[in-house]
Amino acid sequence: MRPFKLASKEFKDQNTIIEIKSDFKPVFIGEGYCTVIAGPCAVESWEGYLETAKFLKNIGVHMLRGGLFKPRTSPYSFRGLGKEGLDIMVEAKKQTGLPLVTEIMDIRDLDILYDMIDVLQVGSRNMQNFALLDELGKVDKPVLLKRGLSATIEEWLLAAEYILNGGNGKVILCERGIRTFEHYTRNTLDMGAVALVKNLSHLPVIVDPSHATGKWELVTPVAKAAIAAGADGIMVEVHQDPEKALSDGKQSLDLNSFANLMEKVKKLSSLENKKII
Ligand code: PEP
Ligand code: MN
Repeated sequence: MRPFKLASKEFKDQNTIIEIKSDFKPVFIGEGYCTVIAGPCAVESWEGYLETAKFLKNIGVHMLRGGLFKPRTSPYSFRGLGKEGLDIMVEAKKQTGLPLVTEIMDIRDLDILYDMIDVLQVGSRNMQNFALLDELGKVDKPVLLKRGLSATIEEWLLAAEYILNGGNGKVILCERGIRTFEHYTRNTLDMGAVALVKNLSHLPVIVDPSHATGKWELVTPVAKAAIAAGADGIMVEVHQDPEKALSDGKQSLDLNSFANLMEKVKKLSSLENKKII
């Protein structure tokens, strides 16, 4: 068998479809669906987040993202609002009914995140934090596992294996670009990996075109390519005023550009027979 046994199609040939309950309508992630997660890189303010969240709900986004504990390269950069940001996300969930996705960097934060957060994200920098993966294996909550900055496909699937092996079968894989010699884009999106992992594994695979490119102008074309390549959804950074964003403004779409992306993604999804409603 493949080294990543539980994640492989040899072990389970039926694709895993993860259902996330919501006050608005249930969200599904997996084969046959195109699930859209959107929101700012980091939660920054009550007004900004709530305005963005309501806009995103009205144009058909399925889940809201927002960073609370940000893994910044420099310790002097904005590192997130932490617990106060969680209150803002919870209010957005109350007002929109949309489920929430946020990154967990430290298992000690599970206590405050567990009740209100619907999907726990493991960021690229933590993809091989095996202690964190082991703990998330014991949790009854979907985990969105981003590919590590320089992780091979096998390393990525073995990281998923840690969570599956702990007993948590709800893993969503997210390709977000890898480091290469190319510097005109922030990372190099490995689109071949998306198609390959869809063949190797029964787990849902989504694409993050924001971190993959680092440039907002590239986000829409790359998001379209991801869906055409078979991704089960996308996660996109959106900010109500990207120029003022405290993190990742250059790769964030403003509300109108994101609405245009959404229209294109809806059309493509129906061409590819993926449900997006
Ligand atoms: C993010 O999604 O906010 C993030 C930090 O992404 P990554 O871990 O892919 O860099
Ligand atoms: Mn970001």
